[in-house]
Amino acid sequence: MAVSRRIKDNLERSSWIRRMFEEGLKLKKEFGADNVFDFSLGNPDVEPPEAFAQTLARLAADRTPGTHGYMPNAGYPAVRAAVARKASRDQGLEIPADNILMTVGAAGGLNVALATILDPGDEVIVFSPYFAEYFFYAQNHGGKFVVVPTKAGFSPDPEALARALSPRTACVIVNSPNNPTGRIYSEAELYAVAEALMAHGRKTGRYPYLIADEPYREIVYGGARVPSAMLAYPETIVATSWSKTLSLPGERIGYLAVSPRCEDAKALVDGMAMCTRILGFVNAPALMQRVVAELLDARCEVESYERRGRLLAEGLKAAGYEFPEPAGAFYLFAKVPERAACGDRPQGEVRDGAATREPDVEFVMHLKKYNILAVPGVGFGAPGWFRLSFCVAESTIRGAIPRFTRAIEEWKTER
Ligand code: PLP
Repeated sequence: MAVSRRIKDNLERSSWIRRMFEEGLKLKKEFGADNVFDFSLGNPDVEPPEAFAQTLARLAADRTPGTHGYMPNAGYPAVRAAVARKASRDQGLEIPADNILMTVGAAGGLNVALATILDPGDEVIVFSPYFAEYFFYAQNHGGKFVVVPTKAGFSPDPEALARALSPRTACVIVNSPNNPTGRIYSEAELYAVAEALMAHGRKTGRYPYLIADEPYREIVYGGARVPSAMLAYPETIVATSWSKTLSLPGERIGYLAVSPRCEDAKALVDGMAMCTRILGFVNAPALMQRVVAELLDARCEVESYERRGRLLAEGLKAAGYEFPEPAGAFYLFAKVPERAACGDRPQGEVRDGAATREPDVEFVMHLKKYNILAVPGVGFGAPGWFRLSFCVAESTIRGAIPRFTRAIEEWKTER
């Protein structure tokens, strides 16, 4: 047996995005790339800012001996100090350099954080819908994945959270701006989550960590600002990256910031440095650490995402789709439209032969008939919804709107 049962199961579980990707390749081959409207992939499509290329070229030319050697597992001290200044500004409190750990993207950081805090069987709470990879990250480190529903508008539900918290809860992950909903959690929403955690801590003596996954912090629209999780709750760890801010997902550079208000901040950072090493990362990419430390105020052209998000939202709204307006990130999460009663056709039947009863899967298959690719909400723990990523050309959005319009009309009347 070449692949473990766990990985086989995981391949099956994560098959939606992969399946849509494969469908996309097939459609593009058949109809030509210009006639396929692929909203399935959240791959940043704006170029990094000009300053990135210049800084990279200058630093790559550095011939100082040792430049390409090992370093402390937590990262270059000077880089951690520079990043601490930025993290302090973002979070609104003074974060010492010692509380920063450079990571291999936000994904690497989340894995390091979970490896550091989880004992086998400890619980990791997420709110639905959630970034699908969280399940695997928790599983990687022996964590039990616990999903808590959100209220209307995808607002975290503090009462549902309070019910889900247990003596085994190690952490709650919040992601704002959110993938897949595009929601930014307000200060009041973060404080309500914090209050549930504080009450649980007072009762049980165990204060779960709040892990704020913030790679989209700077991809926000209409001048929005992402409130500070560290001000809301003392036991907070921020995981983030430059994957979206500078449009560098392939370069794998990010950081973890441990709140100075964490009771065991030093032990936590020491543990994280150890986990960076033993998970095999050893340290975050050296050259990229030095590059981002010089580009702390730079960002990609966020306005381009905003423009395209608005274009898509206007077109879909006019067509009759329902969704919360994206406030950040580059996703729109829409409700599967209601349809007229289906007569004797079983609800959920899919016409391409892949029998299923999930309405979001059925609707995504329906969109495929118009050469539109989307991801069903079931992949994010939210059946009944579907995700569109607007990392696509404006012409793709413009070309897709009449198709979305026809798709909803025919969906509603089709028998
Ligand atoms: N968290 C969320 C919510 C994401 O959407 C992503 C990537 O899409 C990540 C984490 C991982 O980011 P990175 O590429 O920096 O590892």
